[in-house]
Amino acid sequence: MTNTTDTSTTNCPECDAPLQREEGVMANEILPCEGCGAELEVTSLEPFTVELAPEVEEDWGE
Ligand SMILES: [Zn+2]
Repeated sequence: MTNTTDTSTTNCPECDAPLQREEGVMANEILPCEGCGAELEVTSLEPFTVELAPEVEEDWGE
């Protein structure tokens, strides 16, 4: 098998920047993309998968 895909890396869904799973990262954690600054939610650790986190419009109704 010649598929050497590393399951600890993925790409930003927004800008396609390579992302590496860092030690201690947890599923559902929000990570900022270093390429575009987007907030990415870790959806899976093995293989490492991220999704664009939904933008939360915080409305505290102050
Ligand atoms: Zn990005």
